[in-house]
Amino acid sequence: MSTTFSYPEPKLQEELKRTAEAIVTPGKGILAVDETNEGIGKLLAGIGLQNTENNRRRYRQLLFTADKALSDNVSAVILFDETVYQKTDDGTPFIEVLKKKNIIPGIKLDKDVVPLFLSEDEVTTQGLDDLGKRCAEYKKQGCRFAKWRCPLKIGERTPSVQAIEDMAHVLARYASICQSEGLVPIVEPDVLLDGNHDIVRAQKVTEVALAALYKALSDHHVYLEGTLLKPNMVTPGQDYPKKSTPEEIAVATVTALLRGVPAAVPGITFLSGGQSEEEATLNLNAINSVKLKKPWALTFSYGRALQASVWKTWAGKDENVKKAQEELLKRTKANGLAAQGLYKAGAVRSAAGDKSNFSENHKY
Ligand code: 13P
Repeated sequence: MSTTFSYPEPKLQEELKRTAEAIVTPGKGILAVDETNEGIGKLLAGIGLQNTENNRRRYRQLLFTADKALSDNVSAVILFDETVYQKTDDGTPFIEVLKKKNIIPGIKLDKDVVPLFLSEDEVTTQGLDDLGKRCAEYKKQGCRFAKWRCPLKIGERTPSVQAIEDMAHVLARYASICQSEGLVPIVEPDVLLDGNHDIVRAQKVTEVALAALYKALSDHHVYLEGTLLKPNMVTPGQDYPKKSTPEEIAVATVTALLRGVPAAVPGITFLSGGQSEEEATLNLNAINSVKLKKPWALTFSYGRALQASVWKTWAGKDENVKKAQEELLKRTKANGLAAQGLYKAGAVRSAAGDKSNFSENHKY
C-alpha cells in the first residue's frame, strides 16, 4: 500500500459517479438476471424445457420486452455474457431494447466459485486474469456497470481469515480494474443464508466482512463514489428455529451497514439470497422505514425474488408471456415502493409471493 496515489481523472470520476447514482435513483433498483447457463438450466428444467441457447433467449426476451412501465422501478439490469449478444425475435439486440427503455445494462464478471483448498468447505471466485480486456469489450457493447459476487459461509469456525481476506482482495482488484475501464463496480460480499446461526452471529460476520472489504477498497484506491455495494440482508440462518421480524432484520442490517460502509458510497442494492418474493419486499420496506441514519440509497438487486412468479406463470409457453410480464411488473412495482418505505404488507399478490426461494449451496 502506498499513501501517495491519485484518484481517477475528473472526467472518469464524473462518469462513474453519474452511473452509480442513476442506478440508485429513488424508487428504482436492479433486475438481476445474470444466471449462468448452468444456473438458468435448472430453472428451465423445472418447467420442462431443455437448456438451449434459444430457450435461454426466449426467457430473457420475455423480461426485456415487458411494458415500458418496467423502467418506472428498474434502473438497471445485470446480464450474463451470452445475453449481451442476444437479440429479440425481430433482430433487435437486447442491449438496444434496454437502452430504449432507459435501463442501464450491466454485466456479471466473476467466473463463479471454486473451493479454497484446505478450508472448511469455503469458496472464492475467479476471473481476474483477463478482466481488463473483458471490461473493455463489455463497455464497447454498451454495459456501464458490473457485478462480482464472492460468498462467505457461516459455520462454527467459518468464515475463516483465509476466506474473508480473499473475498476482500478479489473484490478490490475487480473494482479497481472495472473503474480503470469506465465500468461502475458493484461489489457483492454475500454472507449466505445457509446455516443454523442466529441473527446476532449473522450481523457480526457481516460487519467483519464489510470492514475487510472497505479496507481493501481503500488500499486499492477505489473511488467509492463510483461504486455500489450488493450485500446480504442480516437475517438468522435458514435452519435457525426462530424467524426474525422485518423490523428486527432492518435494525440488524442498517446497524451493520452503518458500522462498515462509508457514507461516500452512493447506494446499497441488496441481494435476495433465497427469501420469498414477499419477504424480500417486506424486509426492504422495513430497512427503508427504520429510524436509524441512512446515508446511502437502499434498494434491491434481486434475482430470485423478482423472477419466481415469472417462471411459474410463463411455464415455457408463448401464450403465457403477457401474464408472466405482468407478474414481473407487480414485483418491480412492489420493490420500488419498498425502496421508499411505502409498501404495505400483502398489497401486491403474485403467483409465487410467499414461496421460499432458498436452495442449499445455491449456484447462480
Ligand atoms: P438473488 O436475489 O437471487 O440472491 O440474486 C442476487 C444475485 O447476486 C444475482 O445477481
